[in-house]
Amino acid sequence: MDKNPFEYAPAPESRALVSIKGQYGLFINGAWVEPKTKDKFSTINPANEEVLSKISQASDSDVDRAVKAARAAYLKTWSKMPGKERGKYLFRIARIMQERAREFAVLETLDNGKPIRESRDVDVPLAAAHFFYHAGWADKLDHAGLGINPKPHGVVGQIIPWNFPLLMLAWKIAPALATGNTVVLKPAETTSLTALLFAEVCQQAELPAGVVNIITGDGATGAALVNHPGIDKIAFTGSTEVGKLIARSIAISGKSATLELGGKAANIVFEDAPIDEAVEGIVNGIFFNQGHVCCAGSRLIVQENIYDDLLVKLKRRMSLIRVGDPLDKNTDLGAINSAAQLAKIKELSASGDTEGAFRWSPDCQLPSKGFWFAPTIFTGVTQSHRIAREEIFGPVLSVLTFRTPQEAIEKANNTPYGLSAGIWSEKGSRILWASKALKAGVIWANTFNKFDPASPFGGYKESGWGREGGRHGLAPYLKGAK
Ligand code: ADP
Repeated sequence: MDKNPFEYAPAPESRALVSIKGQYGLFINGAWVEPKTKDKFSTINPANEEVLSKISQASDSDVDRAVKAARAAYLKTWSKMPGKERGKYLFRIARIMQERAREFAVLETLDNGKPIRESRDVDVPLAAAHFFYHAGWADKLDHAGLGINPKPHGVVGQIIPWNFPLLMLAWKIAPALATGNTVVLKPAETTSLTALLFAEVCQQAELPAGVVNIITGDGATGAALVNHPGIDKIAFTGSTEVGKLIARSIAISGKSATLELGGKAANIVFEDAPIDEAVEGIVNGIFFNQGHVCCAGSRLIVQENIYDDLLVKLKRRMSLIRVGDPLDKNTDLGAINSAAQLAKIKELSASGDTEGAFRWSPDCQLPSKGFWFAPTIFTGVTQSHRIAREEIFGPVLSVLTFRTPQEAIEKANNTPYGLSAGIWSEKGSRILWASKALKAGVIWANTFNKFDPASPFGGYKESGWGREGGRHGLAPYLKGAK
């Protein structure tokens, strides 16, 4: 394989744009409060292991304070406010997020490890777009086809993961507020900083106290939120394992829930596909956000007669991926979010080696500090291999082949998940046929990882319950709406 012929000078984004406090409290009832136990934990930059700040571990009694604040705000203010007025707050939040976009992008990159190019061009603009989109719905809910004068649940408990911290916050908070609910949100323990900056945005927007409460902490805080009797509805994005725990714990409480869980998406390339575009789509599908994407195209399923040609092109393209400093504007692949996630990626990749698949990565220098994994493909993968069945949630692609279109569909659907899929073909009729046959909530054709606030997102089977985004995503936040 040729060495990368392109040399880039460093182009680091300035971190002077953000001011990170030495420690953070909890955002409850519109104010910063200390956790009852005074427990704090460190949040680090995964690219170099530098401690960025100390975050509060919310205990059961802190969760209780936050839920009570959200209930009071619901009863006194938010449920009485006309949709048009709620919409104004959402518009205001969206505009402030745009004004502070650079600050959010740099902070997200520091705390998460994702390239600044992605936080700047994807995460932050899409998060603001979610608030703009839902601001528009706030006074039009009667016309959403979800019943006349639909009513909110009340207080919503929201738990989000670390892969798109600010964007997942927006996916959760924007529809909840637009539909008239109040919120207690818990970010993931490794990536709380942009949620805490968002709390400042709520203050700046003069959102009534208690409408949004942000409590930080680990899984124990999440479980306390799920089990709190004052919560009417749960919205969770995270692993299937924790999703199952939540489903069990709410089974008899009558709480409703939306669960957006794992995936093992098939990205199917038919023999008539535009190969160069497909290669771009494959790279975007698995290496975007270091593969920390629940809808990542992590199983490439290629028609056998184009396999050799496609693989040569894919390897050449992979050798051009720039891995390194996430704050550098030229970086394509940043740091793995945590030591624990890196260990999981390494363990699953090692199972690929021992089960007989062939590993390949381009030559690339990984930084000596921080958590890093080279872009990797495994060929010779069979359906029984763990790397074809389990979600790796890292920059690792498993390549399988097929001979007939029917075989492609059978392999694609042979998974407990069903979140997303990709189809690459020049034939419209084949795309329509395949998309009907695939059991996945989101299907992209001749593209991948395209998101829009107006488009519903969610899965089949073990990928979860319910949809987020679009008109469909409003329904779970309204009583009795389907
Ligand atoms: P991942 O494996 O991707 O880290 P998790 O499902 O463990 O995903 O985490 C997603 C979110 O769920 C995080 O905010 C985490 O703190 C929270 N969480 C973890 N365990 C529980 C639990 N038992 N109940 C509720 N939330 C939890």
